[in-house]
Amino acid sequence: MQTRPKGLAVLQGRCPQCRVGKLFKYPTHKLSKFTEINEHCPSCGVKFEREPRFFDGAMYISYALSVGLFLVSAFLIYQLFHPVSETVYMVAIISEVILLYPLMFRFSRIFYLYIFGGLKFGGNKK
Ligand SMILES: [Zn+2]
Repeated sequence: MQTRPKGLAVLQGRCPQCRVGKLFKYPTHKLSKFTEINEHCPSCGVKFEREPRFFDGAMYISYALSVGLFLVSAFLIYQLFHPVSETVYMVAIISEVILLYPLMFRFSRIFYLYIFGGLKFGGNKK
């Protein structure tokens, strides 16, 4: 079987150890259940929550992603539409944060697991 490249594994929310099993139980568009994470990798069996409350740390990643989104959005609005009122900035940025929340939630957890999970591709931790 061909190995999935790391970047694709991250984008698809796959297990860092085998790059096959999915981290999340349901697709992102299932809005009532998009937060549910598999306890173990369905493919290699590694435990995703590396320690109790492991994914709490992902809120720092989420915060960084939100700030990045805020800065990029404000810059683009300024460059493309200046002069506009502060209300335009606020409505645009708040709408983006709400609309992109499921993606931000998921990618913050995926990035956190890849960075701090201590899992190596091809390893055999459980
Ligand atoms: Zn796995």
